[in-house]
Amino acid sequence: MRFNPKARLDTSRVRDRGRGSGGGRGGGLGSGGGGGGMPIPGGVASGGGVVGIIVIVLYVVLTQCTGDGAANGGLDGSRMADTQRYASCKTGEDANKSADCARVAVENSLYDFWGDELGSKFRAEKEVDTFTGATSTGCGQASSDVGPFYCPVDETIYLDTTFFDDVLERQLGGPDGGFVEPYVLAHEYGHHIQNVLGTMGKVKTQQGPKSDSVRLELQADCYAGMWTKAATSTEDASGEVLFASVTDQDIQQAIEAATAVGDDRIQERSGGRVNPEQWTHGSSQERVAWFKTGYTKGDLAACDTFAPGAL
Ligand SMILES: [Zn+2]
Repeated sequence: MRFNPKARLDTSRVRDRGRGSGGGRGGGLGSGGGGGGMPIPGGVASGGGVVGIIVIVLYVVLTQCTGDGAANGGLDGSRMADTQRYASCKTGEDANKSADCARVAVENSLYDFWGDELGSKFRAEKEVDTFTGATSTGCGQASSDVGPFYCPVDETIYLDTTFFDDVLERQLGGPDGGFVEPYVLAHEYGHHIQNVLGTMGKVKTQQGPKSDSVRLELQADCYAGMWTKAATSTEDASGEVLFASVTDQDIQQAIEAATAVGDDRIQERSGGRVNPEQWTHGSSQERVAWFKTGYTKGDLAACDTFAPGAL
């Protein structure tokens, strides 16, 4: 993955909230603690923070942040000010040198891609917020163990930047570096697109191999594939292409990351049986397949995981 050195970066939607404290009880989501206001379903809690990451995205989406789930009332006064972490990110050259600036570049590319794709239906996310430790969100307090998630209440993607080293690589055995973070961000951005398009409102069943939640997650993987394919041809407002290259190795890393976060793989790694009735995100094979569908077909209709017979 390389960025066009001349392209300009737009940091207006990317914020860093620094190191937060409080909220989490230190035990992580696996202990049923961590992140007050964000309980996870007991049946899948045994895998510790690892399962929490995967589950929380969905669980927050489905139970905390839809309809009257907005009981937390949006952002509270404890939210920390932006640390200016991204202030020095000006160009694609900066993104080639710095993981932080690369994050800005990925957000910019996702914003540009989906703006083109949806046209007048598009609405930008409010922010991509990074943090360490804990942060308050429109969906409640998030602790470090939560991992990346999208909160529909404040239309913000939250990302603990230690996730990739600490959790994805060490606990889940996923790959490190390269295109892993772009894949994850693209998946979360896919949830924002689902929110914009009203797809989240269709979700009724939350567990099981053909549940709506699995369909929602696989669709987000498909959307990530769509963007990945188009990244090197997506132009910003001034007509510059931000992504100069996405290599086969990058694609392979996205696929490995999708494999690592499949429900079956997570259940195996947490020492349990593979029990599809508890699935919320789909198997490794399905996640990879839908990413590839988005990548090869490149259109929204091909990503209709809710269609009869799609799964
Ligand atoms: Zn997701």
